[in-house]
Amino acid sequence: LVELGVEVRPSTRATNLTEAGVQIGDEFIPCRVKIWAAGNNASFVGKTLGIPVDRVGRVIVNNDLTIPGHPEVQVIGDLANFPHQTGEPLPGISPVAMQQGRHAARNVLAMINGRKPQRFRYRDKGTMATIGRNKAVADLKFMHLSGLPAWLAWLFVHIVFLVGFRNRLLVLFQWAWAYLTFDKGARLITRNFQSEQRPPV
Ligand SMILES: Cc1cc2nc3c(=O)[nH]c(=O)nc-3n(C[C@H](O)[C@H](O)[C@H](O)COP(=O)(O)OP(=O)(O)OC[C@H]3O[C@@H](n4cnc5c(N)ncnc54)[C@H](O)[C@@H]3O)c2cc1C
Repeated sequence: LVELGVEVRPSTRATNLTEAGVQIGDEFIPCRVKIWAAGNNASFVGKTLGIPVDRVGRVIVNNDLTIPGHPEVQVIGDLANFPHQTGEPLPGISPVAMQQGRHAARNVLAMINGRKPQRFRYRDKGTMATIGRNKAVADLKFMHLSGLPAWLAWLFVHIVFLVGFRNRLLVLFQWAWAYLTFDKGARLITRNFQSEQRPPV
């Protein structure tokens, strides 16, 4: 990030955000464009279940992904707070959501066959993040990559995990086009989104 000209300020909390800029304690940084990357609240749906949720609205699930008092309901992915493995909630990333999705499906089959839902265990296969063209980091447990090799590994893994050959081919073509033409059109959100309608909770 520093190489890209970003000034990184670790252990610093934004205390206010206005149209004119960002407040960091006593310091005010004037800016029109602000990009928030510190996480979002979970969907309001969790709060409508009438069971405990955490500070960001994630449902605190049992160790088998069911919710307290309702063994027939499972909550997974970004909406779930699963603290049973490390004491901390699992991170809101797609491998967690995918593994929980598969586990929830197995639980449903088990319950249909009269068995109890099973405890979920997350298998952490490592972490990857990209921060731009040819730049990424990959912590794959058995090795740590950075720069171009990490970026290629990131591309490969994201293509492989897409569902369906047609999707893989399409995304590969779009990424190749964006890479060769420096066209970032594929990342633009051009649709007008309606704000989420939240019922009173
Ligand atoms: C910008 C961004 C970049 C990310 N990059 C990465 C990354 O590089 N690697 C990584 O591992 N993870 C990444 N993540 C996180 C990852 O996308 C999520 O952890 C993952 O998608 C969670 O899956 P999910 O099924 O729980 O939720 P989602 O994928 O968000 O799916 C929830 C679905 O529910 C639908 N929905 C919401 N409310 C309702 C409702 N009331 N009724 C019906 N449907 C509803 C939504 O439209 C959506 O389709 C990123 C997330 C963001 C926002």
